[in-house]
Amino acid sequence: MPARSSRGLLERLKTDVVVGAEGYVFELERRGYIKAGPYVPEVVLDFPDALRELHREFLRAGADVMVALTYYAHRQKLKTVGRENDLEALNRQAVRLANEVAREGDALVAGDICNTWAYDPKDKATSSKVVRRMYEEQLSWAAEEGIDFVIAETNDYLGESLIALQVIKELGLPAMVTLASTRPHQTWDGYDYVDACKILADNGADIVGLNCDRGPATMLPIVEQVRSRVSVYVAAQPVPYKTAPEMPTFESLKTDDGTRVFPIALEPFLCTRFEMAAYAARAKALGVNYIGICCGGSPHYVRAMAEALGRTVPASRYSPAIELHPMIGARVEEKEKQFIADWKG
Ligand SMILES: [Zn+2]
Repeated sequence: MPARSSRGLLERLKTDVVVGAEGYVFELERRGYIKAGPYVPEVVLDFPDALRELHREFLRAGADVMVALTYYAHRQKLKTVGRENDLEALNRQAVRLANEVAREGDALVAGDICNTWAYDPKDKATSSKVVRRMYEEQLSWAAEEGIDFVIAETNDYLGESLIALQVIKELGLPAMVTLASTRPHQTWDGYDYVDACKILADNGADIVGLNCDRGPATMLPIVEQVRSRVSVYVAAQPVPYKTAPEMPTFESLKTDDGTRVFPIALEPFLCTRFEMAAYAARAKALGVNYIGICCGGSPHYVRAMAEALGRTVPASRYSPAIELHPMIGARVEEKEKQFIADWKG
């Protein structure tokens, strides 16, 4: 097991917010290493350098956590692309890569599990057993490779997320459990999001909240309510898209002519880095403890968020200096004249 970071998750949260960074699957899809549709992270085995580089970019941008790319790396999903036999190798390699890059800085490593598509509230007894086995196998490999905590994310069902939480607690690791929020107010098994977070907190989750689906504008109002209901740490990991009350999730976004843009024509709705910086500052003001980003996230957003939280990060060395732009910078003509004067001798 590799050496752990000097400061654990809970220790960091006591004194400061933790900056999260996700969106690996969408970003690596854009870069040509993951297929949109199945979204299985085959990149872990097929192009480890591509994943290593993205981890490094998030680290330089100020992420406090390297999240192992095991999202959708479970048995059900790998089966859909005919790679069930690569399950263990892929899961182990993902955690190794996250550790390798985390040690280039002082980042934490998170194991990651997600919705399985196997949970069935109508056949809770049988499906729960299957889900539990899927989480156990993924997390036992992750724990062996070395992780600081586990993120169980994009949970459509509270019932399924409680199984994830139980498995994480049995491993003795801190648990961050966040819900998906595709429906207006409730999980797919009918729990109000705020109530569901409270139940997760009461069952021992160290961090609860929401991730994915919603942009900052439609996620923060729910997270604010969660903050007032629970005494544990709260997480927000929105998608960087301009969702609004009439189109609250990125799945529901449509262009003016009615075309649905999810998941690969979302660009017209992207937030700017300034909007994501404002979100991070607002989240901190609301008392959110784990401030991150989900699908659509990329390093420039994370840097803007980290800087809005008062940090200077390695990539801040190249943060914008628009005043030096040749066309729109300040005193352009004056500077050009000076340059010519200096060089004409
Ligand atoms: Zn997402």
